[in-house]
Amino acid sequence: MYHSKGRRVVELGVLAAHLQKGCKKCGAVLHLWDCIQERHYGLGSILYIKCTICSYISNIPIGKRHEKNIWDMNTKLGAGIANSGIGFSVLQMLFASLNIPGVAAGTVKKRDREAGKAIESVAQKSCNDALDEELKMNDGKVEIRVAADAGWQTRSSGRKYNSYSGHSVLIGDKSGKILRYDYRCRKCRLCENAKRKGIQPIDHDCRKNWDGSAKAMEPDMIVGMLKDLEKENIHPHELVMDDDSTAISRARKKCDQTITKFSDRNHLKKTFSNKLYDLQRVKKYQQLRGKTITHLKKCFSYVLAQHQKKPEELKKSLLCIIPHMYGDHLACPSWCKYKRNPANYIPRNLPYSRYLTCLELKKDLEAIIQTYAQQAEKLSDLGSTQACESFNHIVASKHPKNLYLSGSESTSFRIAAAVAQKNIGKSYIQELGQ
Ligand SMILES: [Zn+2]
Ligand SMILES: [Zn+2]
Ligand SMILES: [Zn+2]
Repeated sequence: MYHSKGRRVVELGVLAAHLQKGCKKCGAVLHLWDCIQERHYGLGSILYIKCTICSYISNIPIGKRHEKNIWDMNTKLGAGIANSGIGFSVLQMLFASLNIPGVAAGTVKKRDREAGKAIESVAQKSCNDALDEELKMNDGKVEIRVAADAGWQTRSSGRKYNSYSGHSVLIGDKSGKILRYDYRCRKCRLCENAKRKGIQPIDHDCRKNWDGSAKAMEPDMIVGMLKDLEKENIHPHELVMDDDSTAISRARKKCDQTITKFSDRNHLKKTFSNKLYDLQRVKKYQQLRGKTITHLKKCFSYVLAQHQKKPEELKKSLLCIIPHMYGDHLACPSWCKYKRNPANYIPRNLPYSRYLTCLELKKDLEAIIQTYAQQAEKLSDLGSTQACESFNHIVASKHPKNLYLSGSESTSFRIAAAVAQKNIGKSYIQELGQ
């Protein structure tokens, strides 16, 4: 009489084959119905099935095992939690809802470690493959352009620099894939607990590799990755990254004097809009309100996008933005709607659909635009760290910011999972083996 309750994760083929192979004593086919006991090993279990002919009790596993009795499904569970971005408590809730026997935290942790290392090696390999691909796309030239970015695991909102861990990537401009990744972690729970108790920490895979501030992680990681590429005889001579980063000066000092930096488009838009809001705060212009700022930002990013690789046109176009908003369309380029239909044109995007009139404001706005017009050469050759941003979204999905994992290897496993997914696609999880 079958006595086990609830649901299981079963490898049907494995179970069917064992039942078919039959009683370990007389060989008679076994029936699930005759299971008299079950012993759980995480998700896996051994069924004790009594032979109807000779009464011998055979033990039948419901899935495959590897090495020393490690259940494949438990290892898959470890890979699954890193891949799906959930924590142990959510996992337990999910099992309880499905009425699947719970898995002990220790088992999950152990298998997370096992699967995590496999994920890390898949991620490493995917980076090397990406580098080959990048070089091929760059016609074999070892001078490549890379985008660099960093992210932190703690909830950001301006306080991101408290984070215990951070990661960084170099993304190839041609392939859009991650060529190198790294992380810094300044906390290890095991080491800290041991220190508190005044004892030697047990032997563990310690991932603490940073003592400095969270902010200083970024330049350190980027320089480290650039050096790593140099060892392979690859020279990233152009770096696409944030405007305010100290990484570039460090990279010039420690790697390559001649490395050039390209500003990131999104970052530029943000600093432009900050300048406008600062102006509004200080001078309290009536006409510089939300609607005006939104329109200015839109014109600015449109002009940047329209005139890439054409510095002269970019400069001309930038200088038209302010006169255009004051009703002077004399020099306006083709994007100006007034030019298309002067008789019926209304500046709808400005407050009350009226041109701006305040001359003092005009002077201030023109001064801001002027600073950008002077850098037209640089602005007409913008790289984009868009690929980095999409990677950061993947990391956040594997390592939600409210999930406290910093201080354990789980963080690095989840970053590796994100790298593998970015480079290989969601199917990377299948590369971990069955
Ligand atoms: Zn038998
Ligand atoms: Zn440690
Ligand atoms: Zn115009």
